[in-house]
This record gives sequence, C-alpha cells and structure tokens, in this order.
Amino acid sequence: MESNEKIQILSDLIQFDSRNGNERPVAEYLKALFEKHGIEAEILPLASDPDHRANLVAHVGTGKPVIAFTGHMDVVDFDRSQWATDPLQLTMDGDKMFGRGVSDMKSGLAAAAIALIDIKEKEIPFDGTLRFLATAGEEVGMAGSTALQAAGYMDDVDALIVGEPTGYNTSFANKGELNITLSAKGKAAHSSTPQLGINAIQELMDVWADIKTKLDERSQKDTNQYLGQDVYNIDVINGGSQPNILPATAEAQLNVRTVPEFDNEAVLAIIDQAIADFNANHKGEVSREVTMEIIPIEGDLHSKLIQKMQAIAKAAVGKDIKAIAAPGGTDASKLLVDHPIGFPMAVFGPGNFLTAHQNNEECSKDMYLKFIDMYTELFTTVSTEY
Ligand SMILES: [Zn+2]
Repeated sequence: MESNEKIQILSDLIQFDSRNGNERPVAEYLKALFEKHGIEAEILPLASDPDHRANLVAHVGTGKPVIAFTGHMDVVDFDRSQWATDPLQLTMDGDKMFGRGVSDMKSGLAAAAIALIDIKEKEIPFDGTLRFLATAGEEVGMAGSTALQAAGYMDDVDALIVGEPTGYNTSFANKGELNITLSAKGKAAHSSTPQLGINAIQELMDVWADIKTKLDERSQKDTNQYLGQDVYNIDVINGGSQPNILPATAEAQLNVRTVPEFDNEAVLAIIDQAIADFNANHKGEVSREVTMEIIPIEGDLHSKLIQKMQAIAKAAVGKDIKAIAAPGGTDASKLLVDHPIGFPMAVFGPGNFLTAHQNNEECSKDMYLKFIDMYTELFTTVSTEY
C-alpha cells in the first residue's frame, strides 16, 4: 500500500466522531476496508446500544498460536475552541499530524489494520492466527473489551499486543483504575440561616479532606517498583442550585489509579471507613458508588514478545527500546482479567502519550508509517516463539 493511502485511512478514521461512543461507524469502515482486501471481519454490536456501539473482530490465518492485537475506536472529548486545527480533520504540519485520536489511538488502529492487509496481500508466511480486536468504550468503562473477553475471544490467545501510544518504547504493566461517585445528602435552607439546614457541598468537602489524608499516607508507603504509587483526583463536582439556597445534594466523581501493593480493595476500604466515621458524627449522609473498575496488570517484562518487539524497533529506529510501566490503564485490564500477572502482553503503538487526551493532540507521520512496517514484521515473526 502506498504512503498516501496509509495516511488517507488514518484521515478517514479521524473524521468519525467517536467521542466516548459512536464506534459502530468506525467498525463498519474497518470491516469494509478489510473485506476489500479479502480479510473476513465481523461486527459485534454492544448490547447496551447496538445501533451506535460495536466491537470488530478480524482474522488472518488459522490455528495456533493465536497472536492478538487490540486497539480502541473511541476517543476522548474535546473543546473545539481550544484547538488550533479542526480536531475531526487530520491536519499535517511537516512531520506532525494533528487530530483527536491521532495518538490515542487511531494511528495504532490504522497501522495494525494496514499491517494485516499487507500481510494478506503480499502473502507473507507466518504460523497460526492473527486476531484483530477493535474495541468500543475503552476511554469510559471498557464495555467493548469486557464483552470480547466474556465472549471467549481471549481464551486461545498466546500473546497480546495493545496498540496504545508508547512512541518507540513498549510497556508491560499498567495501573488499575477506580471511578467512584461520592454523594452527599443534606437539607436545603435559606442561605441567611444555614443553621436550619445541612450543606451537602460542605459535607462532601469534609469527607474528601479525610479520605485524601488517608490515601496520601498509604500511597506513599505501598508503592510498586515499576508502576510507582496510587494517584487520585476529583474530576467532576456537582451540587447546589443558586447562591441563596443551602445545597441539599452534592456529588463528586473521584478517579483513582492503583498499583498491586495498594489495590482497588484497599482504596475502597479507606473510603468506606472515612464515610462511616463521617456519617457517625454528622447529621447529613455521605455514600459512595463504584461506577468503573479495572485491575492493575503486570505482564512479563522478560517475555519473547517484548524481546522481539525491542529487536524490531531497534532495527527500525537505531536506538534501544525501553520496556516501561505505563500510568494509564488499557483494555488489557479487561482482556487479561483472568491473567493479570505474567502474561506475554505488551503495549506498543505509534503516538505521543503526552499529547493524548490534550488539546492539539499530535503524532509523528514518520512514526505512524514506521509502525505499519514494524507491526507487519512483529505479527509475522512473533508466532514462532509461541
Ligand atoms: Zn487509548
């Protein structure tokens, strides 16, 4: 395939507005692209919203071993006014390409799809099966990868490549993640007589102060040698209606990234204790709900998959490729829910992780094109190791 066609495919993917949903058109596009090149692909709609949301699975080859690639089709939200270019148009400036998802991770998705097409068209020999798993909903809740795992698409997989942006590095571990909604119930009153009501926003702030102190303390002690320590933020807060009414309800959404040494369960125990202490000593009522949860993953740093990847990338770019632990979770947390420790898994994809989820997200064009060749080589040679 010519370079301009490779860029065109990425450009087509960027134009689909798959912000936190609406992945089905991306899946339909990939299915048509694969089928045009003689690769069978199947759309698997998500039960929650089958008209707009779907996974896609494609295969080249048959039998064992099974090498799987996964990439997500959704992207995070954007504020168009904060961008120098249209986020839904791939825009080039020298070697830089801009667009929402150009790093995270439509470049990785396109590069792997094109690699499969190249392998099929050039009839490059390899052992076993290459399985392409394009997921919906990675950025919020991971419904797509959860469904693929539950449907058995990981049961026979021998090695897993995740195409999230790592630049020319690779990652073998990621943190777990918890989204928790903290809700406070108080009692409305006129703002001039706060003693007659219960300020739900104040309750939320007080209980959060206690939670934060306790999380800070423990997270500094119980760290992971690769992943570092737990981190947490309040990212959404809602409450109150107008300045002269004491707020009767308030809600905050907390995001926590966990390591095996201070895991999801331990974080929840601290939060529950803080809430119980608060409720025992105050008139209002605070509660919590977990809205999303993934576990930390620690793959095998010394796997043949990673060695192969490092050799291929070193040959392509002439420098040593680092195997690192990544701060952010990936679909691997759902796909490897039965194998969280020690599976031959590696995250390896084009893009600049530091610009993911940011305004003016960018990726190097040269890197994107190189990844197509590296994936082609990796997909067709790694199977001999499994
Ligand atoms: Zn991503």
